[in-house]
Amino acid sequence: MKRHIKLRTYPTPRDFCPHCGHEMDAASSFHRAEDGPGGPPQPGHLSVCIECMAFLRWHVDAPGRPMMLVPLPSFEGLPLDAVNRLLELRAALKLAKAYGPPTRQGAGKKEVKH
Ligand SMILES: [Zn+2]
Repeated sequence: MKRHIKLRTYPTPRDFCPHCGHEMDAASSFHRAEDGPGGPPQPGHLSVCIECMAFLRWHVDAPGRPMMLVPLPSFEGLPLDAVNRLLELRAALKLAKAYGPPTRQGAGKKEVKH
């Protein structure tokens, strides 16, 4: 079954990955069409660092404070679907890093002109 994944990028408070220090000021949301329109990250949402692929969580220390990224120490207590999505996202990011983004001809394929 073909799955439709939407990708949208939203500005976020400037922050640094707690694992590798990579600076981030935006987050991309990968969600399925059946999940609704999606939106910017909210406290409690999960994320993956695009640089080191660490699993992260958006967190707010206190009301009125900006969101920040904190490490996600384990998958304990997370719904299986959320864990699966994190693993899929990290796998897709690793492939994109190794082989470049997918093309219209398909991921990993190169157009050959004769
Ligand atoms: Zn990182």
